[in-house]
Amino acid sequence: MAELIFGEVPEVPVGTIFPNRMALYRAGVHRSIEGGISGRQEEGANSIVISGGYEDDEDNGSIIIYTGHGGRDAKTRKQIANQKLTRQNLALARSRTLDLPVRVIRKTSAGFRYDGLYSVEDVWQEKGKSRFTVYRFKLVAQKILKGALEATDLSAKIPTRRTITISRIVRDSEASRRVKQWYDFKCQVCSVVLSVPGGFYAEGAHVKPLGVPHEGSDSIDNILCLCPNHHALFDYGAFSVSDDLTLIGLKGKLFLRKDHHIDLSNFHYHREHILQVLGIENRIWARHADRTI
Ligand SMILES: [Zn+2]
Repeated sequence: MAELIFGEVPEVPVGTIFPNRMALYRAGVHRSIEGGISGRQEEGANSIVISGGYEDDEDNGSIIIYTGHGGRDAKTRKQIANQKLTRQNLALARSRTLDLPVRVIRKTSAGFRYDGLYSVEDVWQEKGKSRFTVYRFKLVAQKILKGALEATDLSAKIPTRRTITISRIVRDSEASRRVKQWYDFKCQVCSVVLSVPGGFYAEGAHVKPLGVPHEGSDSIDNILCLCPNHHALFDYGAFSVSDDLTLIGLKGKLFLRKDHHIDLSNFHYHREHILQVLGIENRIWARHADRTI
């Protein structure tokens, strides 16, 4: 199998136009003749083509909400079944986990245009316009991410593409600090308190995520106090919480103070959109996760 090339393809500057899919393929810009996502589920996705084929795609230039593949009728192109987090969809989810750059190609009236590198910032599921479950991927142009990094004036010690770290720092609000102090920095899942020079460390985890498109609120009824491990597992949808606080995907129960009122619709949202039911392809990682927590 040919090696996947991530990032820029030599001698293909941003803005290069290719007449058709075959030309894109030959140039090594998008190594799939028909599929919208190029890549392998074990290694990640290295490029996508936005052709306007999916009724649920949203393209705002620097931010793209891209719909996964599968579940469409070959003739009518209509969604007739639920999508799964397998194959090319899983590849794109891996690009988020592994922080890999994804080339974006747009179909224009002039042909297929290479539009630069993007990062996969978010993955979730929802009912599309057809009422079937589809996977959605938020991609953000890397030049925009770099701009945000410079604006927050963080030192060069933080790699440019560590966007999750950056956004967590920016988002550590008053509400988040309050919740952490309430729990004395003790993780609500595993009760671990991390002791670091200068005090204790925990993270404020938003149940319904902040920002486009989820628009969760930055308030104490939407924030948990978690250790970094459980925060990452929660944000990636490896576990969730039921209304009676039993954990889904992990053993045990969420510890919740009596005076900490979480809006249950936020748990509902997390279960519905962020929690991933792990298929066979995913279990190898689930086993790995079991070992590390
Ligand atoms: Zn924990």
